Amino acid sequence: MTTLNGKTALVTGSTSGIGLGIARALAEAGANIMLNGFGDVDAALDTIGATGAQVAHHPADMRKADEIGAMIAMANERFGAVDILVNNAGIQHVSSIESFDAQKWDDIIAINLSSGFHTTRHVLPGMRARNWGRIVNIASVHGLVGSAGKSAYVAAKHGLVGLTKVTALETAGTGVTCNAICPGFVLTPLVQKQIDDLATREGIATDAARARLLGEKQPSGQFVTPEQLGGLALMLCSPLAAEVRGATWVADGGWTAQ
Ligand code: NAD
Repeated sequence: MTTLNGKTALVTGSTSGIGLGIARALAEAGANIMLNGFGDVDAALDTIGATGAQVAHHPADMRKADEIGAMIAMANERFGAVDILVNNAGIQHVSSIESFDAQKWDDIIAINLSSGFHTTRHVLPGMRARNWGRIVNIASVHGLVGSAGKSAYVAAKHGLVGLTKVTALETAGTGVTCNAICPGFVLTPLVQKQIDDLATREGIATDAARARLLGEKQPSGQFVTPEQLGGLALMLCSPLAAEVRGATWVADGGWTAQ
């Protein structure tokens, strides 16, 4: 059983979905948690607080470098350090390249890719000084393969996989590791919107849209769960993963095995 007692984890975009699942797994292992994200912040604070962990929230907009810096300063002030960084915040927009909204492109690159650069550059000096750190980047199968209609998301996630490899190389001689988790479809608000859009576009029931979305890509026919991804993140934070560096760990129901 991995213990993270005395460690502090910052999980970006952790008020719902995968980020909240990972924050809960790290909290249950004993870590202090700095949450980030919008929406139902109180419910997320309650979920993590119920584990007995120390928890705080910072509302930094991941599109804004100065707010990211302020969030990390608050984490350092409140908990003394950031030992574990999970770059998870992300949004999606589906449209062909010709009709892709340019502002949405900029937002996806900022939130899904550039925020990971800003958080990483702020936490690395402390991790190096303590000679221990874990950076877990939540990429996607779309960091490894493409899908039509998802140009900005696929570009950002491929970029995040690249950032993961460079961070791993620059820290290779230290106690700091950096790896990416690449999930297939997980039933979160981000995917529910795609299901709802498909149902509306095709005039089909939500259940049928859900089955079609999964059936097109994910051979298992099952969604990956936030709990499973929490378990993977915990494994990457464990001592046994000390030499797992720059990996892209898929949890995708067989999507990229095809
Ligand atoms: P979600 O919509 O449930 O959660 C996204 C989180 O990011 C929320 O907490 C939201 O408040 C936060 N967020 C959004 N914009 C933000 C901003 N500007 N600043 C700060 N926080 C912001 O989505 P999810 O499915 O849990 O996605 C989490 C991550 O997992 C994303 O990076 C996503 O690309 C990735 N992912 C998701 C799936 C999937 O199938 N759901 C698959 C692979 C990868």
